[in-house]
Amino acid sequence: MSKIEIRNLVKRYGQATALNKVSLTIESGEFLVLLGPSGCGKTTLLRCLAGLETPDEGEIVIDDHIVYSSEKKVLVPPGKRNLGMVFQSYALWPHMTVRDNVKFGLDVLHTPKDVSNQRIDQVLADIGLAHLDERYPSELSGGQQQRVALARLLTTKPPVFLMDEPLSNLDARLRMDMRVELKRIQGETGATTVYVTHDQTEAMTMSTRVVVMKDGDIQQVSPPGLVYRQPENVFVAEFIGMPLINLTELEHVDGSLFSNGDITLNLGWQPDVAKIVVGARPEDLKLGPARKDSAEFTVTALLPNGPETIVQMTRGTTVLVARLGHETGLETGQTIHVSFETEALNVYDASTGAMVRRPRTQGLPSLTKSIAPATGRNRNELVGT
Ligand code: ATP
Repeated sequence: MSKIEIRNLVKRYGQATALNKVSLTIESGEFLVLLGPSGCGKTTLLRCLAGLETPDEGEIVIDDHIVYSSEKKVLVPPGKRNLGMVFQSYALWPHMTVRDNVKFGLDVLHTPKDVSNQRIDQVLADIGLAHLDERYPSELSGGQQQRVALARLLTTKPPVFLMDEPLSNLDARLRMDMRVELKRIQGETGATTVYVTHDQTEAMTMSTRVVVMKDGDIQQVSPPGLVYRQPENVFVAEFIGMPLINLTELEHVDGSLFSNGDITLNLGWQPDVAKIVVGARPEDLKLGPARKDSAEFTVTALLPNGPETIVQMTRGTTVLVARLGHETGLETGQTIHVSFETEALNVYDASTGAMVRRPRTQGLPSLTKSIAPATGRNRNELVGT
């Protein structure tokens, strides 16, 4: 187990800044996932940690040992950082069998033969490759090769795992199995893990914390539930979650009332800005009979998807998307009444995109507290039309 500290890390490629003074503390035993759109700097950060890329400024400390410091002129090579890495390109030896490829990592560490054999058998069985141990890489599928690379990392039991999209070549079923297996092995070994992925489900299901990045900057570092329920800004709100969060711009009318002409919302508290964006997850819309806090919308699309149905609704120029159960009883063109689950709303300053926090003095629950994800059936149940 190892603690990693990244301080003010900068990496430039010519004029482009891939990492812009990134600071982050990764606790011992954490499963930290780096998430963000293509080009945001995830891989660059991982490669800087691994020592495969030399930053331009900043400091990286692993367990109180400085492995990189621009100021102190320290640059520890990758092999001396005591890290295990798996990258998207598996880099297997083509002339070695699966077993020998996996054994290679252990041989480098001079692991005794009996220990080595036992670990190889165990890991190959864990990741479902035991029956292929005498094959050569050219006789394996991309997904199988990816698992061999993973096995090579896992058998060496490094205190830090660095993984860049290690499951990207697996089909959906295998990916799911491997997530469970990786999480189990990581939990058992207690290895501090930094994991890059594009896949939100992977990030949300495997991580202890998610780091959302954009243009070389960190936007939010939070446990996955909090990233979903309380995105710190409009970018994170929009980036996380499918279907997308409903973001509606409203102007201050009076007191705690905000409106865009189509809908008027009583927030119950008054943000100190003239224009806000309210973020409502699709499961935080309430559909049902007319109430004093509801507005009439027209159903414009119904998208059934297994256990749920995504409902798109329109009123004037306001478009909202709700997530309901599989039997909605709704029809396109139908009129419905919509209200917000106001306690679950997030409010952002429309000019900066930053979250506006509800003052504690107004006696309402603080937004810094975690709000449990909406799971109850009644939360978005259609209560009549
Ligand atoms: P992806 O999800 O597509 O892999 P990423 O978030 O991992 O993207 P990086 O690969 O870290 O992004 O790239 C960050 C930025 O740095 C991008 O703008 C990229 O074009 C640039 N970049 C990365 N490596 C190099 C390089 N070797 N030379 C020049 N620019 C680079």
